[in-house]
Amino acid sequence: MVLCFSPFVFLSVAQKILRVKTAYQKMVLCFCGRIAIVRTSWTSTNPGRRFHSCPQTYSRCDFIGWVDPLMCVRSTAIIPGLLRKMNKQDEVNHDLKVEVEKLLVEVRKLKMYLICSCVLIVAIAIGYV
Ligand SMILES: [Zn+2]
Repeated sequence: MVLCFSPFVFLSVAQKILRVKTAYQKMVLCFCGRIAIVRTSWTSTNPGRRFHSCPQTYSRCDFIGWVDPLMCVRSTAIIPGLLRKMNKQDEVNHDLKVEVEKLLVEVRKLKMYLICSCVLIVAIAIGYV
């Protein structure tokens, strides 16, 4: 029998309180008092920059607390272009996958025709038909 203990079990009460207090201090509350969640911005001005926001969907709470610092001008200029290229490449990849699926269906159909033709040729050759 293997027992598995979390390192938290072996901490003193003071250490446990300190850890819980530290975790609580790291929590960010939004304007409506909920624990904010971390999202990633994909706007052209803040591409890839993480921020805290209200966890409530369609909420009027417009809390935004930035997690990451401001990006340098060069990064802000380059990242949107890279994202556009990546999205365009994803579309091309999707189109190619669809084309490959169509070709695989065609290959299966042609293999079936080939097998039928071979069977017919053999049948004719031995005088069965
Ligand atoms: Zn909120």
